[in-house]
Amino acid sequence: MLLEDKVAIVTGGTRGIGRAIVLRLARSGCDVAFTYLKSSQEADLLIREAGKLGRRVLALQADVRDFDQSRQLIERVKDDFGKLDILVNNAGITRDKALMMMTREEWLEVVDTNLNGTFNATRCAIVTFLKQKSGSIVNITSVSGVTGLPRQTNYSASKAGIIGFTKALAREVAAYNIRVNAVAPGFIDTDMIGSLKEEFREAIRKRIPLARFGSADDVSRVVEFMASDRASFITGQVVIVDGGLSIQ
Ligand code: NDP
Repeated sequence: MLLEDKVAIVTGGTRGIGRAIVLRLARSGCDVAFTYLKSSQEADLLIREAGKLGRRVLALQADVRDFDQSRQLIERVKDDFGKLDILVNNAGITRDKALMMMTREEWLEVVDTNLNGTFNATRCAIVTFLKQKSGSIVNITSVSGVTGLPRQTNYSASKAGIIGFTKALAREVAAYNIRVNAVAPGFIDTDMIGSLKEEFREAIRKRIPLARFGSADDVSRVVEFMASDRASFITGQVVIVDGGLSIQ
């Protein structure tokens, strides 16, 4: 198995892409701790489902916006599982609106969750990775952060920030055998885009060369690979998983 006896943390694991990543890593031989903000019922269901895969699975309510909660998360996982090998920064939100209508709160909420949340968890995990001279970090960004999308200035800025963070950190810690990469999904069928009107969904679908929305598993397979030793010579990269949407 690709991730035999590794230990991973996945932020925002209860729904959508995060949930698929938790299951995929567990199936791949990994013990997994995942976080969530509110969905305690979904967390219980996931523990039951992932638990059947024969690996240890831990759910923790921890807000990525809170630095102290991120620190406690890393300590708890090291105490319970004995080590940490992989961090997947997945938790993210959207608050889409034209800039002229966007409130300062809507700007801050998105940047605080997506970008500052990625800083918080990574800053707390990096000390462990530096000490052990190994580690793999996978940051979930978005095509929106690569090309920019209208009504998503807050989201595009936060996701572009994650790309800069990924590249800078990859250079900074490569000498310690720590890899840092990003995965940039396009339109993936999760709660995040489930609320879009059908005519808008159809218009988007027409723009995707592979003519469908991605599944959470389309993304989780790439995350599994990037986290694993199969990607041992890959760092500082952004892998786009978008059915060809961003082909130039
Ligand atoms: P969902 O909305 O389906 O799930 C989001 C997850 O993040 C949930 O588990 C949620 O927990 C958690 N979360 C939200 N805020 C916080 C917080 N402050 N602290 C801890 N956990 C939090 O999202 P997706 O699965 O669609 O997206 C996952 C990632 O993929 C995000 O980073 C998103 O930006 C990115 N992405 C998604 C795309 C898509 O088309 N769906 C496209 C490109 C990128 P809870 O259940 O408790 O609310």
